[in-house]
Amino acid sequence: MQTNFTAEQLADPHVAEAESILRKCVHCGFCTATCPTYVTLGNELDSPRGRIYLIKDMLENGRPADEQIVTHIDRCLSCLACTTTCPSGVDYMHLVDHARTHIEKTYRRPLMNRLTRNMLAMVLPYPGRFRLALKLAALGRPFAGLFDQVKSLKPMAAMLRLAPSSVAPPSDFAKPATHAAAATRRGRVAILTGCAQPVLDPGINEAAISLLTRLGVEVVVPQGEGCCGALVHHMGREEQALDSARRNVDVWTRAIEDGGLDAIIVTTSGCGTTIKDYGHMLRLDPAYAEKAARVSALAKDVTEYLSTLDLPLAETKGLTVAYHSACSLQHGQKVTVAPKLLLKSAGFTVKDPPEGHLCCGSAGTYNIMQPEISARLKARKVRNIESTKPDVIAAGNIGCMTQIGSATGIPVVHTVELLNWAYGGPRPKALDRRPAA
Ligand code: SF4
Ligand code: SF4
Repeated sequence: MQTNFTAEQLADPHVAEAESILRKCVHCGFCTATCPTYVTLGNELDSPRGRIYLIKDMLENGRPADEQIVTHIDRCLSCLACTTTCPSGVDYMHLVDHARTHIEKTYRRPLMNRLTRNMLAMVLPYPGRFRLALKLAALGRPFAGLFDQVKSLKPMAAMLRLAPSSVAPPSDFAKPATHAAAATRRGRVAILTGCAQPVLDPGINEAAISLLTRLGVEVVVPQGEGCCGALVHHMGREEQALDSARRNVDVWTRAIEDGGLDAIIVTTSGCGTTIKDYGHMLRLDPAYAEKAARVSALAKDVTEYLSTLDLPLAETKGLTVAYHSACSLQHGQKVTVAPKLLLKSAGFTVKDPPEGHLCCGSAGTYNIMQPEISARLKARKVRNIESTKPDVIAAGNIGCMTQIGSATGIPVVHTVELLNWAYGGPRPKALDRRPAA
């Protein structure tokens, strides 16, 4: 794609990067076929190619964002299916990240939209606040229908409906500690506790830590680590996201210096994609660029790391698992085969649901901020998964698990919970909704 940026504009490294990404796009439109918003809405401006044109126009003319571009960029899920499809290697992720930052700096959103986004940014990244908010939401759920009557309050209705009916108490596994290897030691890793996952489902990291320690891996939960910054990063709040990144880089750098780390294990793939991008996010910060690149290189999805440990074949469980490949894992991190191979070796029959490349509509806070598109994608995803007639659904991202679980009676568990069970851990409680295997 031809671009016409001035030398002055290109002196800004962020604009220069955007320009180099734009130049790679050859307008072929292959990406439109796999874009969930284009497939759902059929509007070119809700396709990757359409958004690329809008971003180019805004940046090239040095214009503030307007309502049209905000509408279409806000509808983008950041699922990155377009980057998997694009034959020209267009780095859409960093382009849309830059566009979102530009929008945040130059566009004043309507009041309710602003308030909702501020509330999400002030609550979700903090487990204590998030836990309290979920308890309040459980009380407010009967009023969701009322909020639905007013367009600007629909995100509130979506939030109330997504909140679980009960919240588990804080897990000891989320506290800073070193969990010793329970077999001959063969590795040392840190694990991300994060923000929303330990509140919504503390059993995921409990399963990961139990499995890893039984396999001879020492697992460190470092003091001071917190939200990876993905939630605010996707809102264009770059400074807040970079602050989170710097804090975690400091924490993990201390853990590296204090005993070494073979990997930084992430059990929420949305967070994993962001942590693997810390090196890029902090590339212009001389105090952090090198440390952040080291952290990104160590970040591994839990299934990526487990597949290096040569797990033995386990007895069959007689259960069919529909494996939902989270966008952040398949498109963001290109981890596609490892989770399914691990599940098969662990004795499960694994099914790939049709249209596995399409997002479930969760996408961070998307299911709150864009409830209508999200609901359509969720219904399509659940229909596809249920068509495989599984006993259980496995995924590697708490956002997808919550989204899919809100629309099906089939149990939804994290992949690592099934693996933990197969290799000596307890049967996931969620399976109690089905007859025992
Ligand atoms: S990230 Fe997903 S929703 Fe956004 S343009 Fe790409 S394919 Fe479409
Ligand atoms: S597939 Fe790639 S090159 Fe083709 S229009 Fe989409 S982003 Fe541009």
